[in-house]
Amino acid sequence: MYDVLIVGGGAAGFYAAIHMVEANPNLKVAILERGKEVLTKVKVSGGGRCNVTHAEFVPSELSKNYPRGEKELLGPFHSYCSGDTVAFFESRGIALNIEEDGRMFPATNSSQTIIDCFVSETERLGIKVLKNSSVVKIEPRENNEEPSNYSWSVTSIHATYLAKKLVVATGSNPKIWDMLQNLGHTIVPPVPSLFTFNIKDERISGIPGVSTNARIQVIPSKVNTGKFKEALKKYGIHQSDLESEGPLLITHWGMSGPGILRLSAWGAQLLNDLNYKFRIRVNWLPEYYEEAVLSQLQEIKEIEAKKSVLRTKSFDLPKRLWISLVKAVGIADTVKWADMTKIQLQNLAQQLSSSEFLVDGKSTFKEEFVTAGGVDLKEINFKTYESKIHNDLYFAGEVINIDAITGGFNFQNAWTGGFMVAQAIAAKG
Ligand SMILES: Cc1cc2nc3c(=O)[nH]c(=O)nc-3n(C[C@H](O)[C@H](O)[C@H](O)COP(=O)(O)OP(=O)(O)OC[C@H]3O[C@@H](n4cnc5c(N)ncnc54)[C@H](O)[C@@H]3O)c2cc1C
Repeated sequence: MYDVLIVGGGAAGFYAAIHMVEANPNLKVAILERGKEVLTKVKVSGGGRCNVTHAEFVPSELSKNYPRGEKELLGPFHSYCSGDTVAFFESRGIALNIEEDGRMFPATNSSQTIIDCFVSETERLGIKVLKNSSVVKIEPRENNEEPSNYSWSVTSIHATYLAKKLVVATGSNPKIWDMLQNLGHTIVPPVPSLFTFNIKDERISGIPGVSTNARIQVIPSKVNTGKFKEALKKYGIHQSDLESEGPLLITHWGMSGPGILRLSAWGAQLLNDLNYKFRIRVNWLPEYYEEAVLSQLQEIKEIEAKKSVLRTKSFDLPKRLWISLVKAVGIADTVKWADMTKIQLQNLAQQLSSSEFLVDGKSTFKEEFVTAGGVDLKEINFKTYESKIHNDLYFAGEVINIDAITGGFNFQNAWTGGFMVAQAIAAKG
Protein backbone atom coordinates (compact mmCIF):
# COMPACT_ATOMS: atom_id res chain seq x y z
CA MET A 1 0.00 0.00 0.00
CA TYR A 2 1.40 3.34 -1.09
CA ASP A 3 0.32 6.93 -0.95
CA VAL A 4 1.54 7.32 -4.52
CA LEU A 5 2.45 4.77 -7.15
CA ILE A 6 4.30 5.95 -10.22
CA VAL A 7 4.17 3.65 -13.21
CA GLY A 8 7.28 4.15 -15.37
CA GLY A 9 10.87 4.63 -14.19
CA GLY A 10 11.82 7.11 -16.89
CA ALA A 11 12.56 10.83 -16.93
CA ALA A 12 9.07 12.01 -15.95
CA GLY A 13 8.50 9.30 -13.32
CA PHE A 14 11.75 9.97 -11.45
CA TYR A 15 11.36 13.75 -11.62
CA ALA A 16 7.82 13.49 -10.23
CA ALA A 17 8.87 11.13 -7.41
CA ILE A 18 11.83 13.24 -6.27
CA HIS A 19 9.92 16.53 -6.23
CA MET A 20 6.91 14.95 -4.56
CA VAL A 21 8.80 13.58 -1.58
CA GLU A 22 10.93 16.68 -1.30
CA ALA A 23 7.77 18.77 -1.04
CA ASN A 24 6.10 16.32 1.33
CA PRO A 25 8.49 13.87 3.05
CA ASN A 26 5.58 12.02 4.68
CA LEU A 27 4.48 10.53 1.37
CA LYS A 28 5.17 6.85 0.81
CA VAL A 29 6.04 6.62 -2.88
CA ALA A 30 7.10 3.78 -5.20
CA ILE A 31 8.10 3.67 -8.85
CA LEU A 32 7.15 0.55 -10.81
CA GLU A 33 9.45 -0.03 -13.79
CA ARG A 34 9.02 -2.88 -16.23
CA GLY A 35 12.70 -3.07 -17.22
CA LYS A 36 15.65 -4.44 -15.30
CA GLU A 37 17.15 -0.96 -15.53
CA VAL A 38 15.59 2.44 -15.00
CA LEU A 39 16.06 5.60 -17.09
CA THR A 40 17.19 3.68 -20.16
CA LYS A 41 16.11 6.42 -22.57
CA VAL A 42 18.00 9.03 -20.54
CA LYS A 43 21.03 6.78 -20.86
CA VAL A 44 21.00 6.73 -24.68
CA SER A 45 19.68 10.26 -25.12
CA GLY A 46 21.65 12.90 -26.97
CA GLY A 47 24.11 10.28 -28.21
CA GLY A 48 24.90 9.29 -24.61
CA ARG A 49 25.38 12.91 -23.53
CA CYS A 50 21.71 13.68 -22.61
CA ASN A 51 20.44 16.94 -24.03
CA VAL A 52 18.73 17.84 -20.75
CA THR A 53 16.96 21.03 -21.81
CA HIS A 54 17.23 24.08 -24.08
CA ALA A 55 18.53 27.54 -23.25
CA GLU A 56 15.18 29.17 -23.96
CA PHE A 57 13.99 30.63 -20.69
CA VAL A 58 10.86 32.52 -21.78
CA PRO A 59 7.73 30.35 -21.43
CA SER A 60 5.94 31.77 -24.49
CA GLU A 61 9.02 31.19 -26.66
CA LEU A 62 9.77 27.77 -25.20
CA SER A 63 6.23 26.52 -25.84
CA LYS A 64 6.56 27.34 -29.56
CA ASN A 65 8.76 24.26 -29.94
CA TYR A 66 5.89 21.86 -29.24
CA PRO A 67 3.72 21.01 -32.26
CA ARG A 68 1.39 19.21 -29.86
CA GLY A 69 1.10 20.88 -26.48
CA GLU A 70 2.07 24.46 -27.37
CA LYS A 71 -1.08 25.98 -25.83
CA GLU A 72 -1.33 23.57 -22.89
CA LEU A 73 2.31 23.93 -21.81
CA LEU A 74 2.25 27.70 -21.58
CA GLY A 75 0.74 27.73 -18.05
CA PRO A 76 2.94 24.91 -16.70
CA PHE A 77 6.06 26.62 -18.13
CA HIS A 78 5.15 29.72 -16.11
CA SER A 79 5.36 27.47 -13.03
CA TYR A 80 8.37 25.40 -14.07
CA CYS A 81 10.60 26.36 -16.99
CA SER A 82 14.02 25.43 -18.35
CA GLY A 83 15.71 27.80 -15.86
CA ASP A 84 14.22 25.77 -13.01
CA THR A 85 15.63 22.60 -14.54
CA VAL A 86 19.08 24.20 -14.66
CA ALA A 87 18.71 25.25 -11.00
CA PHE A 88 17.60 21.73 -9.99
CA PHE A 89 20.72 20.14 -11.45
CA GLU A 90 23.05 22.93 -10.31
CA SER A 91 21.84 22.60 -6.74
CA ARG A 92 22.89 18.96 -6.95
CA GLY A 93 26.35 19.82 -8.23
CA ILE A 94 25.62 19.21 -11.93
CA ALA A 95 26.58 22.11 -14.17
CA LEU A 96 24.92 22.30 -17.58
CA ASN A 97 26.73 23.76 -20.58
CA ILE A 98 24.99 25.64 -23.39
CA GLU A 99 25.98 24.76 -26.95
CA GLU A 100 25.90 27.29 -29.77
CA ASP A 101 22.45 26.17 -30.91
CA GLY A 102 20.97 26.43 -27.39
CA ARG A 103 21.05 22.73 -26.46
CA MET A 104 22.13 22.10 -22.87
CA PHE A 105 24.20 19.10 -21.74
CA PRO A 106 25.77 18.14 -18.42
CA ALA A 107 29.33 19.49 -18.28
CA THR A 108 30.51 15.90 -17.92
CA ASN A 109 29.00 15.17 -21.36
CA SER A 110 27.64 11.94 -19.93
CA SER A 111 24.01 10.95 -19.41
CA GLN A 112 25.19 8.73 -16.54
CA THR A 113 25.63 11.93 -14.48
CA ILE A 114 21.88 12.56 -14.71
CA ILE A 115 21.03 8.92 -13.93
CA ASP A 116 23.36 8.86 -10.90
CA CYS A 117 21.77 12.06 -9.62
CA PHE A 118 18.22 10.65 -9.89
CA VAL A 119 19.13 7.30 -8.36
CA SER A 120 20.94 8.84 -5.39
CA GLU A 121 18.07 11.29 -4.85
CA THR A 122 15.50 8.48 -4.71
CA GLU A 123 17.71 6.64 -2.20
CA ARG A 124 18.14 9.77 -0.09
CA LEU A 125 14.40 10.41 -0.06
CA GLY A 126 13.38 6.81 0.64
CA ILE A 127 11.51 6.32 -2.65
CA LYS A 128 11.11 2.63 -3.51
CA VAL A 129 12.17 1.70 -7.04
CA LEU A 130 10.69 -1.65 -8.06
CA LYS A 131 12.37 -2.93 -11.22
CA ASN A 132 11.17 -5.88 -13.34
CA SER A 133 7.65 -4.80 -12.43
CA SER A 134 5.71 -4.52 -15.64
CA VAL A 135 2.23 -3.22 -14.87
CA VAL A 136 -0.47 -5.35 -16.45
CA LYS A 137 -3.65 -4.05 -14.85
CA ILE A 138 -4.90 -0.71 -13.52
CA GLU A 139 -8.27 -0.61 -11.79
CA PRO A 140 -10.12 2.14 -9.94
CA ARG A 141 -11.45 0.99 -6.55
CA GLU A 142 -14.94 1.56 -5.21
CA ASN A 143 -15.37 4.25 -2.54
CA ASN A 144 -16.72 1.80 0.00
CA GLU A 145 -14.00 -0.82 -0.51
CA GLU A 146 -11.75 -1.40 2.50
CA PRO A 147 -9.11 -0.20 3.08
CA SER A 148 -10.69 3.10 2.11
CA ASN A 149 -8.91 6.10 0.55
CA TYR A 150 -6.95 3.86 -1.77
CA SER A 151 -8.39 4.87 -5.14
CA TRP A 152 -6.31 2.56 -7.34
CA SER A 153 -5.36 -1.07 -7.57
CA VAL A 154 -2.31 -1.68 -9.74
CA THR A 155 -1.15 -5.15 -10.70
CA SER A 156 2.35 -5.89 -11.91
CA ILE A 157 3.62 -9.27 -13.08
CA HIS A 158 4.60 -9.91 -9.43
CA ALA A 159 2.06 -8.33 -7.11
CA THR A 160 -0.97 -6.14 -6.64
CA TYR A 161 -0.53 -2.75 -4.99
CA LEU A 162 -3.01 -0.24 -3.65
CA ALA A 163 -2.39 3.48 -4.09
CA LYS A 164 -4.15 6.63 -3.02
CA LYS A 165 -2.83 8.41 -6.09
CA LEU A 166 -1.56 7.00 -9.34
CA VAL A 167 0.87 8.68 -11.74
CA VAL A 168 1.22 7.21 -15.23
CA ALA A 169 4.59 8.11 -16.75
CA THR A 170 5.10 5.24 -19.16
CA GLY A 171 6.23 7.19 -22.22
CA SER A 172 4.99 5.84 -25.56
CA ASN A 173 3.70 2.46 -24.46
CA PRO A 174 0.81 1.00 -26.49
CA LYS A 175 -0.28 -1.48 -23.78
CA ILE A 176 -0.66 1.26 -21.18
CA TRP A 177 -2.53 3.42 -23.70
CA ASP A 178 -4.95 0.50 -24.21
CA MET A 179 -5.46 0.27 -20.43
CA LEU A 180 -6.12 4.00 -20.24
CA GLN A 181 -8.56 3.74 -23.11
CA ASN A 182 -10.42 1.04 -21.19
CA LEU A 183 -10.58 3.48 -18.28
CA GLY A 184 -12.42 5.93 -20.53
CA HIS A 185 -9.55 8.06 -21.83
CA THR A 186 -9.20 9.04 -25.47
CA ILE A 187 -5.85 8.12 -26.97
CA VAL A 188 -4.75 10.13 -29.99
CA PRO A 189 -3.29 7.44 -32.31
CA PRO A 190 0.52 7.40 -32.08
CA VAL A 191 2.56 8.32 -35.15
CA PRO A 192 6.30 8.93 -35.46
CA SER A 193 7.66 12.44 -35.21
CA LEU A 194 11.22 13.68 -35.93
CA PHE A 195 12.22 11.90 -39.11
CA THR A 196 14.15 12.71 -42.25
CA PHE A 197 12.72 12.76 -45.79
CA ASN A 198 13.50 10.09 -48.40
CA ILE A 199 14.04 11.72 -51.80
CA LYS A 200 15.41 10.20 -54.97
CA ASP A 201 16.42 13.05 -57.22
CA GLU A 202 19.37 13.66 -59.51
CA ARG A 203 19.85 17.18 -58.15
CA ILE A 204 20.91 15.82 -54.76
CA SER A 205 21.95 12.22 -55.40
CA GLY A 206 25.63 13.03 -55.99
CA ILE A 207 26.16 15.55 -53.20
CA PRO A 208 25.56 13.95 -49.77
CA GLY A 209 27.04 15.94 -46.91
CA VAL A 210 26.21 19.32 -48.44
CA SER A 211 24.53 21.60 -45.91
CA THR A 212 23.04 25.05 -46.38
CA ASN A 213 20.43 27.35 -44.94
CA ALA A 214 17.12 27.01 -46.80
CA ARG A 215 13.43 27.78 -46.56
CA ILE A 216 11.37 24.63 -46.98
CA GLN A 217 7.65 24.30 -47.55
CA VAL A 218 5.55 21.12 -47.53
CA ILE A 219 3.08 21.10 -50.42
CA PRO A 220 0.67 18.45 -51.69
CA SER A 221 1.73 16.19 -54.52
CA LYS A 222 -0.46 16.27 -57.62
CA VAL A 223 -2.26 13.07 -56.59
CA ASN A 224 -3.19 13.95 -53.01
CA THR A 225 -4.17 17.64 -53.00
CA GLY A 226 -7.66 16.79 -51.66
CA LYS A 227 -6.34 14.56 -48.88
CA PHE A 228 -3.75 17.20 -47.95
CA LYS A 229 -6.41 19.90 -47.53
CA GLU A 230 -8.60 17.52 -45.53
CA ALA A 231 -5.70 16.68 -43.22
CA LEU A 232 -4.85 20.39 -42.67
CA LYS A 233 -8.41 20.87 -41.43
CA LYS A 234 -8.52 17.66 -39.41
CA TYR A 235 -5.41 18.54 -37.39
CA GLY A 236 -6.01 22.30 -37.28
CA ILE A 237 -2.73 22.96 -39.08
CA HIS A 238 -2.15 26.13 -41.08
CA GLN A 239 -0.10 26.00 -44.27
CA SER A 240 2.38 28.32 -42.51
CA ASP A 241 3.01 25.61 -39.84
CA LEU A 242 4.42 23.50 -42.67
CA GLU A 243 7.12 25.99 -43.57
CA SER A 244 10.49 26.27 -41.91
CA GLU A 245 13.81 28.01 -42.39
CA GLY A 246 17.04 26.50 -41.14
CA PRO A 247 19.97 24.25 -41.97
CA LEU A 248 19.16 21.61 -44.60
CA LEU A 249 21.52 18.65 -44.90
CA ILE A 250 21.62 16.54 -48.06
CA THR A 251 22.04 12.87 -47.15
CA HIS A 252 22.58 9.63 -49.07
CA TRP A 253 18.85 8.94 -48.98
CA GLY A 254 17.32 12.42 -49.13
CA MET A 255 17.23 15.42 -46.82
CA SER A 256 17.76 15.95 -43.09
CA GLY A 257 18.85 18.78 -40.77
CA PRO A 258 16.93 21.02 -38.36
CA GLY A 259 14.82 22.60 -41.13
CA ILE A 260 13.52 19.20 -42.23
CA LEU A 261 13.11 17.76 -38.71
CA ARG A 262 10.99 20.73 -37.74
CA LEU A 263 8.61 20.00 -40.63
CA SER A 264 8.51 16.30 -39.71
CA ALA A 265 7.38 17.25 -36.20
CA TRP A 266 4.77 19.81 -37.23
CA GLY A 267 3.46 17.61 -40.00
CA ALA A 268 3.76 14.29 -38.09
CA GLN A 269 0.08 13.36 -38.27
CA LEU A 270 -0.67 14.96 -41.64
CA LEU A 271 2.33 13.34 -43.34
CA ASN A 272 1.35 9.98 -41.84
CA ASP A 273 -2.12 10.39 -43.39
CA LEU A 274 -0.42 11.04 -46.75
CA ASN A 275 1.62 7.86 -46.31
CA TYR A 276 4.75 10.02 -46.41
CA LYS A 277 4.21 10.88 -50.10
CA PHE A 278 4.22 14.63 -50.68
CA ARG A 279 6.26 17.41 -52.24
CA ILE A 280 8.52 20.04 -50.74
CA ARG A 281 9.48 23.37 -52.22
CA VAL A 282 12.99 24.48 -51.32
CA ASN A 283 14.21 28.04 -51.51
CA TRP A 284 18.01 27.72 -51.49
CA LEU A 285 18.40 31.49 -51.17
CA PRO A 286 15.93 32.43 -48.42
CA GLU A 287 17.53 35.83 -47.90
CA TYR A 288 16.56 36.95 -51.44
CA TYR A 289 13.19 37.80 -52.99
CA GLU A 290 12.54 35.64 -56.06
CA GLU A 291 12.69 38.71 -58.36
CA ALA A 292 15.95 39.79 -56.74
CA VAL A 293 17.52 36.43 -57.67
CA LEU A 294 16.71 36.99 -61.34
CA SER A 295 18.09 40.55 -61.37
CA GLN A 296 21.23 39.35 -59.59
CA LEU A 297 21.67 36.68 -62.28
CA GLN A 298 21.23 39.35 -65.00
CA GLU A 299 23.87 41.48 -63.31
CA ILE A 300 26.30 38.54 -63.11
CA LYS A 301 25.69 37.86 -66.80
CA GLU A 302 27.00 41.34 -67.59
CA ILE A 303 29.89 41.41 -65.16
CA GLU A 304 31.13 37.85 -65.63
CA ALA A 305 30.19 37.49 -69.34
CA LYS A 306 33.27 35.50 -70.27
CA LYS A 307 33.25 33.10 -67.34
CA SER A 308 31.66 29.65 -67.33
CA VAL A 309 28.36 29.61 -65.42
CA LEU A 310 29.22 26.39 -63.67
CA ARG A 311 32.44 27.76 -62.27
CA THR A 312 31.27 31.19 -61.08
CA LYS A 313 30.61 31.59 -57.40
CA SER A 314 27.56 33.80 -57.67
CA PHE A 315 25.75 33.31 -54.38
CA ASP A 316 26.72 32.13 -50.94
CA LEU A 317 25.87 28.52 -51.79
CA PRO A 318 27.98 25.35 -51.44
CA LYS A 319 29.83 24.89 -54.73
CA ARG A 320 28.58 21.34 -55.31
CA LEU A 321 24.98 22.45 -54.84
CA TRP A 322 25.39 25.36 -57.28
CA ILE A 323 26.81 23.02 -59.94
CA SER A 324 23.99 20.57 -59.40
CA LEU A 325 21.26 23.21 -59.69
CA VAL A 326 22.86 24.78 -62.78
CA LYS A 327 23.04 21.36 -64.45
CA ALA A 328 19.43 20.65 -63.46
CA VAL A 329 18.21 23.45 -65.73
CA GLY A 330 20.14 22.00 -68.67
CA ILE A 331 23.12 24.38 -68.70
CA ALA A 332 26.17 22.52 -70.01
CA ASP A 333 29.72 22.79 -68.60
CA THR A 334 30.88 24.96 -71.50
CA VAL A 335 28.13 27.61 -71.33
CA LYS A 336 29.40 31.09 -70.50
CA TRP A 337 27.32 33.79 -68.84
CA ALA A 338 27.19 35.74 -72.09
CA ASP A 339 25.48 32.75 -73.77
CA MET A 340 22.69 32.53 -71.20
CA THR A 341 19.26 33.15 -72.70
CA LYS A 342 16.47 34.96 -70.90
CA ILE A 343 14.63 31.65 -70.42
CA GLN A 344 17.74 29.96 -68.98
CA LEU A 345 18.19 32.81 -66.51
CA GLN A 346 14.55 32.55 -65.50
CA ASN A 347 14.77 28.77 -65.08
CA LEU A 348 17.91 29.08 -63.00
CA ALA A 349 16.31 31.76 -60.80
CA GLN A 350 13.34 29.48 -60.28
CA GLN A 351 15.53 26.49 -59.44
CA LEU A 352 17.44 28.57 -56.90
CA SER A 353 14.41 30.00 -55.17
CA SER A 354 11.76 27.37 -55.68
CA SER A 355 13.02 23.81 -56.42
CA GLU A 356 10.39 21.15 -55.95
CA PHE A 357 11.20 17.62 -54.75
CA LEU A 358 9.04 14.54 -54.39
CA VAL A 359 9.30 12.91 -50.96
CA ASP A 360 8.55 9.21 -50.82
CA GLY A 361 8.99 7.75 -47.35
CA LYS A 362 10.88 8.65 -44.19
CA SER A 363 13.94 7.52 -42.24
CA THR A 364 14.75 7.62 -38.54
CA PHE A 365 16.85 10.52 -37.33
CA LYS A 366 19.93 9.26 -35.41
CA GLU A 367 17.75 6.68 -33.59
CA GLU A 368 16.10 9.63 -31.83
CA PHE A 369 12.49 8.81 -32.38
CA VAL A 370 9.71 10.60 -30.60
CA THR A 371 6.05 9.68 -30.79
CA ALA A 372 3.26 12.13 -31.44
CA GLY A 373 0.01 10.91 -29.91
CA GLY A 374 -1.11 9.78 -26.47
CA VAL A 375 -3.63 10.84 -23.86
CA ASP A 376 -5.86 13.53 -25.35
CA LEU A 377 -4.91 16.98 -24.09
CA LYS A 378 -8.56 17.89 -23.51
CA GLU A 379 -8.83 15.21 -20.83
CA ILE A 380 -6.07 16.60 -18.58
CA ASN A 381 -6.21 19.55 -16.19
CA PHE A 382 -2.90 21.28 -16.92
CA LYS A 383 -2.89 23.11 -13.57
CA THR A 384 -2.35 19.74 -11.82
CA TYR A 385 -1.82 17.22 -14.66
CA GLU A 386 -4.72 15.26 -13.18
CA SER A 387 -7.13 13.32 -15.35
CA LYS A 388 -10.48 14.99 -15.94
CA ILE A 389 -12.03 11.52 -16.21
CA HIS A 390 -10.76 9.95 -12.96
CA ASN A 391 -9.82 11.55 -9.67
CA ASP A 392 -6.40 10.71 -8.26
CA LEU A 393 -5.00 9.76 -11.68
CA TYR A 394 -2.15 11.88 -13.04
CA PHE A 395 0.01 11.87 -16.18
CA ALA A 396 3.50 13.17 -17.00
CA GLY A 397 5.86 12.98 -19.98
CA GLU A 398 5.43 11.38 -23.37
CA VAL A 399 2.34 9.35 -22.35
CA ILE A 400 0.44 12.60 -23.00
CA ASN A 401 -0.15 13.80 -26.57
CA ILE A 402 2.76 16.25 -26.32
CA ASP A 403 5.98 16.16 -28.31
CA ALA A 404 8.60 18.59 -29.46
CA ILE A 405 11.27 19.17 -32.01
CA THR A 406 14.79 18.01 -31.26
CA GLY A 407 16.93 20.16 -28.92
CA GLY A 408 16.14 19.16 -25.32
CA PHE A 409 12.48 20.15 -25.44
CA ASN A 410 11.13 16.61 -25.03
CA PHE A 411 12.93 16.19 -21.73
CA GLN A 412 11.76 19.63 -20.60
CA ASN A 413 8.20 18.39 -21.12
CA ALA A 414 9.00 15.42 -18.85
CA TRP A 415 10.60 17.65 -16.17
CA THR A 416 7.78 20.20 -16.18
CA GLY A 417 5.07 17.52 -16.13
CA GLY A 418 6.84 15.62 -13.34
CA PHE A 419 7.18 18.79 -11.28
CA MET A 420 3.54 19.83 -11.77
CA VAL A 421 2.24 16.40 -10.75
CA ALA A 422 4.51 16.43 -7.70
CA GLN A 423 3.30 19.83 -6.52
CA ALA A 424 -0.35 18.92 -7.01
CA ILE A 425 -0.04 15.66 -5.08
CA ALA A 426 2.19 17.07 -2.32
CA ALA A 427 -0.24 19.96 -1.83
CA LYS A 428 -3.12 17.53 -1.31
CA GLY A 429 -1.12 15.88 1.44
C1 LIG B 1 17.56 7.55 -28.79
C2 LIG B 1 16.80 8.70 -28.21
C3 LIG B 1 17.48 9.86 -27.85
C4 LIG B 1 16.79 10.93 -27.30
N1 LIG B 1 17.50 12.03 -26.97
C5 LIG B 1 16.84 13.08 -26.41
C6 LIG B 1 17.55 14.23 -25.95
O1 LIG B 1 18.80 14.27 -25.99
N2 LIG B 1 16.84 15.27 -25.45
C7 LIG B 1 15.47 15.24 -25.33
O2 LIG B 1 14.87 16.23 -24.87
N3 LIG B 1 14.78 14.15 -25.72
C8 LIG B 1 15.42 13.08 -26.23
N4 LIG B 1 14.70 11.98 -26.59
C9 LIG B 1 13.27 11.91 -26.23
C10 LIG B 1 13.15 11.61 -24.71
O3 LIG B 1 13.98 10.48 -24.42
C11 LIG B 1 11.71 11.30 -24.29
O4 LIG B 1 10.88 12.37 -24.66
C12 LIG B 1 11.64 11.12 -22.77
O5 LIG B 1 12.43 10.02 -22.36
C13 LIG B 1 10.21 10.89 -22.30
O6 LIG B 1 10.24 10.64 -20.91
P1 LIG B 1 9.10 9.75 -20.23
O7 LIG B 1 9.48 9.62 -18.80
O8 LIG B 1 7.77 10.30 -20.57
O9 LIG B 1 9.18 8.35 -20.95
P2 LIG B 1 10.38 7.28 -20.94
O10 LIG B 1 11.67 7.94 -20.70
O11 LIG B 1 10.18 6.47 -22.16
O12 LIG B 1 10.07 6.38 -19.64
C14 LIG B 1 8.95 5.54 -19.56
C15 LIG B 1 9.29 4.37 -18.67
O13 LIG B 1 8.10 3.62 -18.43
C16 LIG B 1 8.43 2.25 -18.45
N5 LIG B 1 7.21 1.47 -18.73
C17 LIG B 1 6.52 1.42 -19.89
N6 LIG B 1 5.48 0.58 -19.75
C18 LIG B 1 5.50 0.10 -18.48
C19 LIG B 1 4.71 -0.83 -17.76
N7 LIG B 1 3.65 -1.43 -18.31
N8 LIG B 1 5.02 -1.08 -16.47
C20 LIG B 1 6.07 -0.47 -15.87
N9 LIG B 1 6.90 0.39 -16.53
C21 LIG B 1 6.61 0.67 -17.81
C22 LIG B 1 9.48 2.15 -19.56
O14 LIG B 1 10.23 0.96 -19.45
C23 LIG B 1 10.29 3.42 -19.31
O15 LIG B 1 11.36 3.20 -18.43
C24 LIG B 1 15.38 10.88 -27.13
C25 LIG B 1 14.69 9.72 -27.50
C26 LIG B 1 15.38 8.64 -28.02
C27 LIG B 1 14.62 7.39 -28.40
